[in-house]
Amino acid sequence: MKADILTIFPGFFQGPLDHGITRRACEMGLAKIEVHDLRQFTHDRHRTVDDRPFGGGEGMVLKPEPIFECLEPLGLASREQRLAGDAKESVILLSAQGECFTQKVAAELATLDRMVLICGRYEGVDERVADFIADRELSIGDYVLSGGELGAAVIIEAVTRLLPGAVGNEASTRQESFTAHETVGEVTGNDAADSTCGSGGLLDYPHYTRPADFRGMPVPEVLLNGDHQAIRHWRREQALRKTLRNRPDLLDGVKLSEDDAEILARIKRDRN
Ligand code: SAH
Repeated sequence: MKADILTIFPGFFQGPLDHGITRRACEMGLAKIEVHDLRQFTHDRHRTVDDRPFGGGEGMVLKPEPIFECLEPLGLASREQRLAGDAKESVILLSAQGECFTQKVAAELATLDRMVLICGRYEGVDERVADFIADRELSIGDYVLSGGELGAAVIIEAVTRLLPGAVGNEASTRQESFTAHETVGEVTGNDAADSTCGSGGLLDYPHYTRPADFRGMPVPEVLLNGDHQAIRHWRREQALRKTLRNRPDLLDGVKLSEDDAEILARIKRDRN
């Protein structure tokens, strides 16, 4: 996977992408990240990347020329080919007005050969970028940031860890929060048994490690006795509990088994 980042702050990415799994994926050649400085695609002495908005109003707008000029030599398939799915490439504009970036979108992007991330600044980016060169607009959440750089780093980190081979134990990325099975392919064999305690679109279950008793705070007994059936059951219940408490909206999108429904009914009864 090649990721190109278009930004007026190329230095921003020294650090966030140089650690952990993202760094390892780059070292292993699974991912290649290139940062492009939009100011290098300006032609005036001041290397101007922004201008005042037509129609008046607050702030400045990121100009279209540097973005178009930076993108053109990258050798991407045409926008039509990309949108038709004929090229495993996507040009993404980071935008608070974009569709929400979720684990499902991350899994979709992880199947691409290349993604280009355009980082806005100021009041935003000249709309012709969204209309004529970006394939989609993505938002990392319902809040307004000052620039798209953090969003680009978030997307790259979430996507990179889904690349086959990036995380040592692939089963672990299949069992995380938000991960519906259909977003990561068939679950078979032993994984199917494991998946009963995996997410299936719920939030992840709680994790504990040694010491078993830390300052009088013991680890739940069930995790210590080696009864795998009981552990799976406990983890599923905890995932349901946490999802109900923190993100009840997610339950609508989850296929619940009869057992799940019973557990949920019991949790709700106990709460009343
Ligand atoms: N005027 C815009 C906000 C501009 S913020 C509005 O009200 O929608 C400047 C830039 O920060 C944007 O162009 C975008 O690239 C980035 N940005 C801000 N919030 C974001 C978010 N939630 N997700 C992704 N990018 C965001």
